[in-house]
Amino acid sequence: MKTVNIGGVIIGGGNPIAVQSMTNVPTQDVSLAVQQVNALAEAGCDIVRLAVPDEAAAKAMEEIVEKTSVPLVADIHFDHRLALMCMERGVHKIRINPGNIGGEENAAAVAKAAKAKGIPIRIGVNGGSLEQGLLEQCGGNLAKAMIESAKRHIAILERYDFTDIVLSMKSSSVKTTIEAYRMAREAFDYPLHLGVTEAGTYKAGLVKSAVGIGALLADGIGDTIRVSLTDDPIKEPEAAKLILRALDLDENHIEVVSCPTCGRTKIDLIPIANAVSEAVEKIPAKLKVAVMGCVVNGPGEAKDADVGIAGGDGCAVLFKKGEIVRKLPEAEIVPALLAEIKRMTE
Ligand code: SF4
Repeated sequence: MKTVNIGGVIIGGGNPIAVQSMTNVPTQDVSLAVQQVNALAEAGCDIVRLAVPDEAAAKAMEEIVEKTSVPLVADIHFDHRLALMCMERGVHKIRINPGNIGGEENAAAVAKAAKAKGIPIRIGVNGGSLEQGLLEQCGGNLAKAMIESAKRHIAILERYDFTDIVLSMKSSSVKTTIEAYRMAREAFDYPLHLGVTEAGTYKAGLVKSAVGIGALLADGIGDTIRVSLTDDPIKEPEAAKLILRALDLDENHIEVVSCPTCGRTKIDLIPIANAVSEAVEKIPAKLKVAVMGCVVNGPGEAKDADVGIAGGDGCAVLFKKGEIVRKLPEAEIVPALLAEIKRMTE
């Protein structure tokens, strides 16, 4: 598969899955935009996208690029001049649909400038805004219509010998999204940007994204991901990381496994599990930690964990690789486990 270099982040061809998000402050407000780009990078974004709705936003991109250190994508609809302005100002990728920018000569100008500067273009096919009549032509099959739309946009860029393309096939329906990306993987050789669009507020959005993006990644489909949430954008890279971790695609983290608790639990396990999870969330180390409710099933069920605790009656045992090391009074469970984790990861 083709690889694409987005300001030094290479996607496709088996490279690590890059995490993306998008700012939601006005791009023309440089200091706010810079602040949010940096916060998103800090939260785990490899690439950040900004909306460029007008000339003021396009002009602002120059200073935003200068003052940030993560590759930036300019998101442009319909106006090819904004794409040209952004490329002159150092953005690392453009998101624009060449079939929607007012004629072939405009697409040619964008492709020529992007090629000269080595800037990739993402074609963003969206199930909700396809060309008129396309859905009917495809017998009402939305995923198929999305593929046809992608073919048209790609053909325009390829006519100008431009192949530095990333493709997204988003829909607000999880099932359509999965179907469209599966078909895209068969049909095209370009890296795929995965996402479920308009996924909703935090909880529903997280589940829809995890199901849609997760199903595809589990099949080896997808090269960069964006979780879309109607919430603080900072939550998007955090959610993306959780999806990657669930599929062992981001191994440099501490995995906490914990039991759901049941009638055998005699310690207050839920706050213990939460405290441990939060404390280790940002530690970059490969370790498996278990927080189990009882000794009857705990150490045995979690014997592949490197370290863990299993609750007793107002106490717990600390175990390593299934072997009990020592007993802990309830108040010492969290500090003792965290101290052990610290020892094992330093
Ligand atoms: S580990 Fe023990 S407390 Fe937790 S769910 Fe299993 S049996 Fe219940």
